Amino acid sequence: MRTRQYELKLKRPFGLARSVSLSRTAVFCRLDAQGVSGFGEAAPSQYYGETPEAVVRAIERHASEILDGDIFYIRDIMEKIKTAGNATGSAQAALDMALYDLVGKILNIPVYKLLGIKPKEMLLTSYTIGIDTIDVMLDKVNEAREFPILKIKMGRDVEQDIVVMQEIRKITDKVIRVDANGGWTLKEAKKCIPLLADLGVEYVEQPLDRGKLKETAELKNWSPLPIFLDEDVHTSKDVIELTDACHGINIKLMKCGGITEALRMVELAKSLGLKTMLGCMIESSLAISAGAHIASLMDYLDLDGNLLIENDPFIGVRALGGEIKLADQPGLGVLPKETPF
Ligand code: MG
Repeated sequence: MRTRQYELKLKRPFGLARSVSLSRTAVFCRLDAQGVSGFGEAAPSQYYGETPEAVVRAIERHASEILDGDIFYIRDIMEKIKTAGNATGSAQAALDMALYDLVGKILNIPVYKLLGIKPKEMLLTSYTIGIDTIDVMLDKVNEAREFPILKIKMGRDVEQDIVVMQEIRKITDKVIRVDANGGWTLKEAKKCIPLLADLGVEYVEQPLDRGKLKETAELKNWSPLPIFLDEDVHTSKDVIELTDACHGINIKLMKCGGITEALRMVELAKSLGLKTMLGCMIESSLAISAGAHIASLMDYLDLDGNLLIENDPFIGVRALGGEIKLADQPGLGVLPKETPF
């Protein structure tokens, strides 16, 4: 077993409602058993109180127990780790991912087959445009010519958000989704959302700050556009509480703790009549590929984190032209570019 911190460098500054990033620290792990290696990735999130160092410690603490036991019973292993309560979402996700990769390789089948998920013919992801000046955002939209679906980040300044969307609509008629990352007040959301609806936006993600479920429920009942929640929903435990506040949820491996929990969330959301999208953080092709294996279960995809970085240490799924293509390779079908990883 080994872990490694790695700086993922962004091609361009990535602006969100509350932050701008130039790079993100990822934590990778490798579990070796029966002559093969399983790879896992964590994208520690400061916003959710994670640090790379704590994630490394959590992975190392649990990896040795895992390798001492029977690695095939991934659900049992992940349940035990969750119950121990000392591994955050992204640390769990890295271990879960490495286990699926490992077991898939040992059995010589891709993870989606291991899970019994038939890949859809066409898996299209959105491509994210971060917040910047209006001119830079329009440049980014032009550069994203190959992607049929765009996700526009908003929430820093509602007046600019409206102008940005009006200007974008002048240059493209693509499917557009909006993510405010909790940056609007209820009043701002009520002003902005009808205008976005007129401009043909498909849905709005996390309009209000996390924790504002009452106001978000009010917005849901009133909104001309579907409302998705992201920052408010981490694991299946959260899903029931917010059924009244949204039309859909954004599931991320890094928030929920990996494929095992993501499957539980998607089933629960479907039973409750909620739409599902699979999202990501800034991640390498390793974690994006892990998401791709369960992507066929979702209504919407936002798996573009690896397209935004310039030093991807893995070769795996890349959504060229916005389309995700799963290879028929064992495990996650991902290769490290450097050895030893
Ligand atoms: Mg989001």
